Amino acid sequence: VRPPSPPGGLGLVSDCARARMIAGLRAAGVRDPAVLEAMARVPRHHFVEPALASRAYEDVALPIGHGQTISRPGTVARMLEILLASIPPQQRALARALEIGTGCGYQAALMAALGGEVVSIERVRGLHETARERLRPLRLSSLRLMFGDGHLGAPNEAPFDAIILAAAGPRIPEDLLSQMKIPARLLAPVGDGERQALHLVERTGDETWELTILDAARFVPLRNGTT
Ligand code: SAH
Repeated sequence: VRPPSPPGGLGLVSDCARARMIAGLRAAGVRDPAVLEAMARVPRHHFVEPALASRAYEDVALPIGHGQTISRPGTVARMLEILLASIPPQQRALARALEIGTGCGYQAALMAALGGEVVSIERVRGLHETARERLRPLRLSSLRLMFGDGHLGAPNEAPFDAIILAAAGPRIPEDLLSQMKIPARLLAPVGDGERQALHLVERTGDETWELTILDAARFVPLRNGTT
């Protein structure tokens, strides 16, 4: 007869699964030690429905309700790695960061774990509220969730050192470009459903932004207004 599993048994199983996910990310080419360490620490299973928790460490997007998904861990790792790589080595933290598209809050939690003072905006009230509940036990005091249309950014919290969009629009919203510090970086998928690419924008002056187009991407659409 097996003894009843100790409290935290599920924790041990998920630690194992998470370690496998990290090994998979490494094998896929993720190198940044800070990103790998943050992803080893933040429990992704905590951000999905209990029925999906056993799949939380596979490299797949999973449904989070309201027709939205939690991004693949590989995608989140790549985004965070690009953003960190563009920051001068002496700074090496996300500093004041803005996320558009909180979803379930997973990437926001990682950004806070990477040392960011993070503001994250979600346009679907149900998701915003669920993210708030899921994040509460993690006690990330440097993370602030807002309900609203991310096209407008967060003027009262601006300017930002780093901005990341988790949804793809036809272009990068003007308000976000003007809420960047000088210097600052913004990373966003741009394009329509089928043809999207990650765009990295670096603000170099009052009226100057430099664009680098990176990998092809596949994100949910950036929508207008709130619901
Ligand atoms: N960051 C999430 C990704 C969620 S998917 C993660 O960690 O997995 C992208 C999210 O962007 C969806 O929840 C969608 O509702 C939201 N979104 C789309 N358009 C938006 C907008 N204009 N403002 C804020 N959120 C938006």
